[in-house]
Amino acid sequence: MAFAVTQSCCNDASCVSVCPVNCIHPAPGEPGFGTTEMVFIDPRSCIDCGACADACPVDAIKPVDALVGDEQAYAALNAAHFEDGPAPAWGAPDFPAALAGHAAGLRVAVVGTGPAASYTASALLTTSAEVTMLDRLEQPGGLVRFGVAPDHVDTRKIGARFDTVRRHPRVELVLGTEVGRDVTHEQLLAHHDAVVYAVGASADRALDVPGEDLAGSLPARTFVGWYNGHPEVPADVVDLTADGDGRTGRVVVVGNGNVALDMARLLLTDAADLTGTPVAPHARAALGASAVTEVVLVGRRGPAEAAYSLSELRPLLAREDLDVVVDGGPEVAEAIAAAAPGSKAAALQGLEVAPLDHAGGPPVRRRLVLRFHAVVERLVGEDRVRAVCLAPAAGDPERARSEVRTGLVLRSVGYRSEPVPGLPFDHATSTVPHREGRVVDPTTGAAVPATYVVGWIKRGPRGGIGSNRADAAETVGSIVDDANARVISSGRGSARSFRRARRDGARGQPR
Ligand SMILES: Cc1cc2nc3c(=O)[nH]c(=O)nc-3n(C[C@H](O)[C@H](O)[C@H](O)COP(=O)(O)OP(=O)(O)OC[C@H]3O[C@@H](n4cnc5c(N)ncnc54)[C@H](O)[C@@H]3O)c2cc1C
Ligand code: SF4
Ligand code: SF4
Repeated sequence: MAFAVTQSCCNDASCVSVCPVNCIHPAPGEPGFGTTEMVFIDPRSCIDCGACADACPVDAIKPVDALVGDEQAYAALNAAHFEDGPAPAWGAPDFPAALAGHAAGLRVAVVGTGPAASYTASALLTTSAEVTMLDRLEQPGGLVRFGVAPDHVDTRKIGARFDTVRRHPRVELVLGTEVGRDVTHEQLLAHHDAVVYAVGASADRALDVPGEDLAGSLPARTFVGWYNGHPEVPADVVDLTADGDGRTGRVVVVGNGNVALDMARLLLTDAADLTGTPVAPHARAALGASAVTEVVLVGRRGPAEAAYSLSELRPLLAREDLDVVVDGGPEVAEAIAAAAPGSKAAALQGLEVAPLDHAGGPPVRRRLVLRFHAVVERLVGEDRVRAVCLAPAAGDPERARSEVRTGLVLRSVGYRSEPVPGLPFDHATSTVPHREGRVVDPTTGAAVPATYVVGWIKRGPRGGIGSNRADAAETVGSIVDDANARVISSGRGSARSFRRARRDGARGQPR
């Protein structure tokens, strides 16, 4: 028997460092770490000690003989990762940098409370640093609280680990305070020795097609915020009730990444199955009364290049209450048939592949339609969406232009960061320019004093929760190096002085 890593792995590598026989890979620093969907356990070396399962914050690691249902596929998936050779040998030990005596008690403000902020605070707390964590919302957690799908209950468990960071005695938590609105960068710097921005990506990328802003067309961020009870998303922004002519029975999701799959899955799930999950009560009620039986997932690329991960697709393919079909021509069918075993496209082998006509109403039985190689030309409708007009992209050349009749379009083509007041911003990549986490002025290349970035605002909206851990290690490494080299110095303000300044500021500036 051995242990195996399963679906909820978020790649944070907590298990890697506790394994006594180095059989979990790719490890940080190895090729593939952060780009593979998950880490894998080599069953030939695993000695069944269980240390990794105890360390995993999302309960992703299980003994192979305890895997049930579609989880059982993970035993072979873990083993397959090591088929081409033995696991890499131990690398050199990597010790976190420590603050020198003169920098002891460094005070760092971390803006945000999502994964990037939490890993940053956690890494800072391994030194003698004091941390202030701020968030514009009254509820902390970032996308762990308001992004991760509520039925991903194991993934949500990482929130408990981040709670312990925020409760640390050397952390001051300041909620409902937006940098740029309630406090300025300069005010933060007056009371802290360094400021780290972990503000994520709070806007949407646009489709840039006519009709995008019609009623009934929503960005993924709104729909995700709706089912997660985000305080800024109204409960009635989504209407899933029948409209009499069947349009609302079908939802078109533009994009085929994991967020698109999350939304499709939620729309095609019995509300009763969400009992006990943190789904927002209004969303659970709306899903219970929903007329939706079909979701059409539209992607520009082909079945081999779809943006979703296999671990998110596989559970949908295993559902008995759901038909999954591919809406594609002969070239799509051939690409799927010829796909290498274990690949994303191969997972679709055995599904019906044929061009579908979406001019009529949706089917009675729940159905997920995967449409590849298609581009949205426009959204059709006068006062609200009535259809989506799709044009074929390279890869499905025999398809004609077609209209998919629908009353709800969810645009899931990516999140986008917004400029942070007072910081340089690269509008081409929608990120803050940096060198190893140090914010730099792009024209001079000079570092902006005592200012750092981490997470999606630093590297763009890519990577799961765990990928922010290595990212945070890099940024904290730069802070510690700068403090030790006296580029930044400790001794500015205190938790009390910052509290007083905020109180005085709030008196002077009513919100
Ligand atoms: C819908 C969705 C579902 C996802 N599901 C998964 C999943 O199941 N598994 C997985 O591994 N990864 C998942 N991810 C990816 C994961 O959530 C990200 O990798 C991660 O959240 C990025 O972390 P961050 O800290 O950079 O940003 P965020 O989590 O967005 O945190 C940014 C924080 O900064 C705060 N903030 C913003 N501006 C300011 C300001 N001016 N002042 C003060 N505070 C501010 C925000 O309120 C927020 O709390 C998902 C992502 C999305 C979008
Ligand atoms: S059970 Fe023990 S030996 Fe096996 S992968 Fe986990 S930590 Fe390593
Ligand atoms: S979530 Fe982290 S600890 Fe759990 S299996 Fe994945 S990398 Fe290991």
